[in-house]
Amino acid sequence: DADHAMYCTKQQGRQGYTVFNHQLRINQADQLALESELRRALEVDDQLQPYFQPFIDARSGELVGFESLVRWLHPVRGLISPALFLPVAEESGLITRVDRYMINAACRQLRQWLDENRVSRDIALHINLSSANFHDPELVSWMRGIIEAYQLPAAILHLEITESALIDVPEIAATVMHALHELGVKLALDDFGTGYSALSYLHRYRFDVLKIDQSFVFDVDRKEESAAIVRAILALAQALGLDVVAEGVETAAQLSRLQEMGCAKLQGYYFSAPMLAHAIDWERLARFVQ
Ligand code: C2E
Ligand code: CA
Ligand code: CA
Ligand code: CA
Repeated sequence: DADHAMYCTKQQGRQGYTVFNHQLRINQADQLALESELRRALEVDDQLQPYFQPFIDARSGELVGFESLVRWLHPVRGLISPALFLPVAEESGLITRVDRYMINAACRQLRQWLDENRVSRDIALHINLSSANFHDPELVSWMRGIIEAYQLPAAILHLEITESALIDVPEIAATVMHALHELGVKLALDDFGTGYSALSYLHRYRFDVLKIDQSFVFDVDRKEESAAIVRAILALAQALGLDVVAEGVETAAQLSRLQEMGCAKLQGYYFSAPMLAHAIDWERLARFVQ
């Protein structure tokens, strides 16, 4: 039925899923249903799953990192995109639990990859962190516990924070980010260039990595304005000593343009969609190394 289709997704294509309609609003009844189902998903079983998308060194083609991205495999509704359930998680206050679930799941996977020698200790594992976490006074000690429990080199862990996450809580965010840095964890500024005061954030907070938003990458090979913005971001990052990842690379033309411009790291469907750990084709990833 239509209501069902509204937030239900179906298996399709390289991405693994297709969202029927991003724009449709979820009505209140659906919202309540989803909320209680999400509560259950957090408690009972493996409905929430970490997908991983690689990013690669633009020069050597070497695998340099993964970003973990949450998926909800609902027993009835099917695979639900984060674009649909994260707003529900945010409004219901469940988002910090989703994030902790994902941090734990991603770190457990990293431990396994290290043990299996799949990845080296210079790899980066990026995990998304929503702004609600800045209100959680336990976050930093919990993070320390995770790092100890899985015996991880903290510098592998990169928390991705969007510009919009910093708007609400500028002071607390600065304190928490400082404490995370003290743990040895790295911080990445996500969706760079799309917020209201990107430059002031760079001035105010210490980030280690900038992620160039996919909206600039989209037509970087066809539109001089986009190319100019990407070049400016790369120059800025270099001047500030920040690492850069361009996201949303889908075509060979975007790839070669970004390589010419000297963008260090690249992520996108051109290389791989996000996927479950067991579905990762390590040999194919190794073939990116030229
Ligand atoms: P994001 O962090 O900006 O992640 C990038 C999004 O672009 C992901 O969508 C990814 O699957 C998609 N993507 C990757 N490569 C390409 C490409 O080449 N072309 C295009 N068009 N898209 C590409 P996804 O997985 O649906 O996630 C959407 C957003 O949900 C993420 O945007 C992030 O803000 C949020 N999110 C995902 N997982 C988590 C999580 O565990 N915690 C939190 N707090 N947020 C999460
Ligand atoms: Ca991200
Ligand atoms: Ca992003
Ligand atoms: Ca985004």
